[in-house]
Amino acid sequence: MPTIDLHTPIEYLKGVGPSRAELLRKELGIRSLFDLANFFPNRYIDRTQFLKINQLQQNTTEVQIIGRITDIKTVQQKRGSRLVATFSDETGTMELVWFRGVKWIKEALKLETPYVAFGRANWFNGTFSMPHPELELVTDYNKSLQTAMQPVYPSTENLSTKGVTNRVVIKMIQNLFTEVGTNFTETLSPTLIKKFNLLSKNEALFNIHFPQSQTLLTKAQQRLKFEELFFIQLQLIRKKLIHKSTIKGYVFNSVGNYFNNFYKDYLPFELTGAQKRVIKEIRKDMATGAQMNRLLQGDVGSGKTIVALLTMLIALDNGFQTALMAPTEILTTQHYNAISEMVKGLDISVQLLTGSTKTKDRKDIHEALEDGSLHIIIGTHALLEDKVQFKNLGLAIIDEQHRFGVAQRAKMWMKNKLPPHILVMTATPIPRTLAMSVYGDLDISVIDELPPGRKEVITAHRYDSNRLNVFKFMKDEIAKGRQIYVVYPLIEESQKLDFKDLMDGFESISREFSKPTYQVSVVHGKMKAEDKEYEMNRFLKGETHIMVATTVIEVGVNIPNASVMVIESAERFGLSQLHQLRGRVGRGAEQSYCILMTSFKLTNDAKTRIETMTSTNDGFKIAEVDLKLRGPGDVMGTQQSGVLNMKIADIVKDAALLKKAREVAFKVLSDDPNLLSPENRNINTAYKEITKNRAIWSNIS
Ligand code: ADP
Ligand code: MG
Repeated sequence: MPTIDLHTPIEYLKGVGPSRAELLRKELGIRSLFDLANFFPNRYIDRTQFLKINQLQQNTTEVQIIGRITDIKTVQQKRGSRLVATFSDETGTMELVWFRGVKWIKEALKLETPYVAFGRANWFNGTFSMPHPELELVTDYNKSLQTAMQPVYPSTENLSTKGVTNRVVIKMIQNLFTEVGTNFTETLSPTLIKKFNLLSKNEALFNIHFPQSQTLLTKAQQRLKFEELFFIQLQLIRKKLIHKSTIKGYVFNSVGNYFNNFYKDYLPFELTGAQKRVIKEIRKDMATGAQMNRLLQGDVGSGKTIVALLTMLIALDNGFQTALMAPTEILTTQHYNAISEMVKGLDISVQLLTGSTKTKDRKDIHEALEDGSLHIIIGTHALLEDKVQFKNLGLAIIDEQHRFGVAQRAKMWMKNKLPPHILVMTATPIPRTLAMSVYGDLDISVIDELPPGRKEVITAHRYDSNRLNVFKFMKDEIAKGRQIYVVYPLIEESQKLDFKDLMDGFESISREFSKPTYQVSVVHGKMKAEDKEYEMNRFLKGETHIMVATTVIEVGVNIPNASVMVIESAERFGLSQLHQLRGRVGRGAEQSYCILMTSFKLTNDAKTRIETMTSTNDGFKIAEVDLKLRGPGDVMGTQQSGVLNMKIADIVKDAALLKKAREVAFKVLSDDPNLLSPENRNINTAYKEITKNRAIWSNIS
């Protein structure tokens, strides 16, 4: 047998063997001793405490009880069978229950022999019962190590069914430490360890598995979290620096007549401080000679369009064309109208290209893009067709990032010799911590200020039983000349029912708001695209008073006269969706309202969501709550799980540490970009090892 070191495959460890090794690989991704050493407990429990059966309470979590099995029976149920053991101590009786591995467990159980049972005790049918307890003979228990901080490792159903219990994992890790010793390579530099008073890698790994005290455990966790975050940031920042030094971009170094004339004579309003700052950031970025790759975040209504236009004018001043892409026809048309209106007095040609552009016009547009006479093209996916070629595309702006895939963007890049600068605009606020860990390789600009004089949307929560009052309120607003959205949820899994709710709702509203006094539109996913457009346009033109819809109106439509948003079954929407929907109103001069309708029964999370909505309009605050409720994976979708799938750190709970790790990584790389100094030798070796196994990418560039 070869000498054992950390690269040794896990099957050579005492107590593992080929079949367990296969199981560990499949279930937990553990292949080597190194992987096992870096498999961290997710919590610690006190195994020195015991309860008596009569001390059990209905809401205790995990408990440890000493008793004897007095009876075992197999109960047949619909699917398979269930094993029930009666477990007693001198104070009472409870049940131990197994749903899996029944046959195997039944044979192994010993009657009338003292056992330690550990697990969750549930109150069920008048007795306590513990499903799938960890059982150990008291004689064995007394031989093993008892501590007030026993690690509990993540597990899977498959592992526990196949007998790889927490005890077994602990034993494996003990074997690992006895056989390999504490001989782990340090990954951080001496300076960092000293400066931040961190445990060494050895001490940290030992104490994370076998905490010698609460203090040492905390320090071990801090050290390992810091390390994890630090290496992620190191990768992201390094990727960004490499991008900047290798991906050349057009140099937009002049701000000329287009920009200056517009700014002087045509700017429709004074820019907010945030808008000015963001434009400065963009201007600077486009003049460096590297390709810009920037995310522009700004809550709905924060004024991203004018920033887009000013950026386009800089491109024009430098002799380049621009493309602005948005996900829907309505949105692109709105952009087109807004932008052509604003540049009317200037000598700039702007065109709209969508799926419904007539063939003849389309041909003209293609030609004008190729000969350079067309300066700004605004369009949908139609812009990505091969036939669309530019004379010199210098800037691509993409509105509502999440609607476009990476492949599409990459395709746009390829249309030119040098890639155009890219500005992605999104109204979905991403909490800073999340942005740092997921988009840490991108540049980010944030418009965190709304234009002045904007009235905050007033948000109220009403129960379904108050519907008549809500109808009355709607009528009053319509009488003042306002328009109203009524939105219903439409969730994939419950499509049929949801659709029925929507249609029932539409009917009841049509009855209450009857013709000819009132006109009601309805838009939903089962309609043909052109019928949808038709209804949306009727509402846009003010021909209908109420728009009943599913969430299709979620994305950026601007109808300033619509000032009331009624959200039905609001408890079923996520926070970011509620916030996006509310952003549809509050766009005009009038006071706007958002009414969240719910039933009486609300889960705690739903209550938090509703309370958050009624207490703030700040998209970033809302995004923070959303992140806490749902966790990073669900907030960002699954694409980035590579970055978010951390072993020990948690970007919500460890936000402060993340910030520190990012600063430190930045400092290390700016002093020593290639990590070549002797001081950074440990970091360099660890970095190479990590990037070899698990390179990080972000899905935006
Ligand atoms: P969004 O960021 O949601 O795309 P828009 O660019 O559509 O926001 O701007 C929302 C509204 O605010 C528009 O009617 C726009 O003309 C107006 N607006 C933008 N910036 C300012 C400003 N600095 N002062 C006043 N109004 C502004
Ligand atoms: Mg917009």
